[in-house]
Amino acid sequence: MAEFTLDLNEDQKQVRDWLNGFARNVMRPAAAEWDEREETPWPVIQEAAKLGIYSLDFYAQQFFDPTGLGIPMTMEELFWGDAGIALSIVGTGLAAVGVIANGTEEQIGTWIPQMYGDTDDVKVAAFCSSEPDAGSDVSAMRTRAVYDEARDEWVLNGTKTWATNGGIANVHVVVAVVDPDLGSKGHASFIVPPRTPGLSQGQKFRKHGIRASHTAEVVLEDVRVPGTCLLGGKEKLDERLARARERAGAGGERVRNAAMATFEASRPAVGAMAVGTARAAYEEALEYAMTREQFGRPVIDNQGVAFQLADMRTQIDAARLLVWRASWMATAGKPFTAAEGSMSKLFASETAKKVTAQAIQILGGNGYTREYPVERMHRDAAIYTIFEGTSEIQRLVIARTLSGMPIR
Ligand SMILES: Cc1cc2nc3c(=O)[nH]c(=O)nc-3n(C[C@H](O)[C@H](O)[C@H](O)COP(=O)(O)OP(=O)(O)OC[C@H]3O[C@@H](n4cnc5c(N)ncnc54)[C@H](O)[C@@H]3O)c2cc1C
Repeated sequence: MAEFTLDLNEDQKQVRDWLNGFARNVMRPAAAEWDEREETPWPVIQEAAKLGIYSLDFYAQQFFDPTGLGIPMTMEELFWGDAGIALSIVGTGLAAVGVIANGTEEQIGTWIPQMYGDTDDVKVAAFCSSEPDAGSDVSAMRTRAVYDEARDEWVLNGTKTWATNGGIANVHVVVAVVDPDLGSKGHASFIVPPRTPGLSQGQKFRKHGIRASHTAEVVLEDVRVPGTCLLGGKEKLDERLARARERAGAGGERVRNAAMATFEASRPAVGAMAVGTARAAYEEALEYAMTREQFGRPVIDNQGVAFQLADMRTQIDAARLLVWRASWMATAGKPFTAAEGSMSKLFASETAKKVTAQAIQILGGNGYTREYPVERMHRDAAIYTIFEGTSEIQRLVIARTLSGMPIR
């Protein structure tokens, strides 16, 4: 296990600069166009695939970086390039993590390559958990998975919503209820293979920001998948359900704690995305404030503007430190005794929203137009306080962890 350090090593610096080059030269010039088109930027994903930036190998390498900084560094650079395009590139990773976390070696080997496709024919994947009546409250999930023992098949029925890449994905990972009496402990994840009958895209959402990323409903009508598509396999599921039933009387603490630890480890990655967007907006604002002249001097000559920039940079650096700390803790296996993962996501996402709004103010009228990118960055930043748990849910998790009380 690596000691915590803020110094990136030579390999990390090389990867960071390589990603920054892609973000600067490929993503940025394409950002406004795909935001306006509100479509998945397939050519950019393809370019990323050719360079090795869109591949499981690359993310696995970053994930296993012993310092814990590989993933936050990657997310920051890509989202610094453009949030909508970046989410189109890393969205498949969310589904891939679902398979890696719960699947068998065979399932990982079979499905992950199909999620990414190949460099000439790239594919994407979707992770479908949220439902119209089950957002923050995952236990309200209704999509059912029923086992048809005679055919060794699972039958899925329900409607998923907000799925990144939903309906356009080659492979969908769907979370469904297998035992309604167990709340969120009665859920299981399933692979829905390409072209499975019964799975269709519902409405595609027209969004405020990250518009290059496709978000849609996914409708499941008598979707039949082979028994082998249950992630982890039937035997493991039966054991887990039996344990959950036993513990239901004792409050199910261990099961809940295991799920919480997974979220604590993944939330810093979203924090790092927010740091990337915030840094991009801050850099635009700094440059503008130093060159735009009013009253015969650059606008940064006014304390009112300069102090805003000082605060923006301070908060971005603080956010990055929280993200790096939590990512290192996850890699080092340190217990999140103060919900440090949630803390990092909360602070970084709120910082991105605030900093991008300040950037618009500093650019004045120009900041409010689509001629300058801070307008887009501000729209994009609003997502970070919503997905992967809203800011209110992060505060709930932190408060519960600190107090040990069932804060509502
Ligand atoms: C662009 C986008 C992409 C997404 N991608 C995916 C994806 O790929 N896969 C997927 O499964 N989901 C995805 N989501 C869903 C996302 O995770 C949910 O939107 C999020 O969890 C919030 O759920 P909700 O929208 O139903 O809000 P709600 O849960 O209805 O919350 C509404 C408001 O009430 C507040 N609130 C709720 N409960 C409490 C409480 N106990 N205490 C205090 N306040 C509370 C919330 O903070 C929020 O302000 C995506 C969403 C968006 C917008």
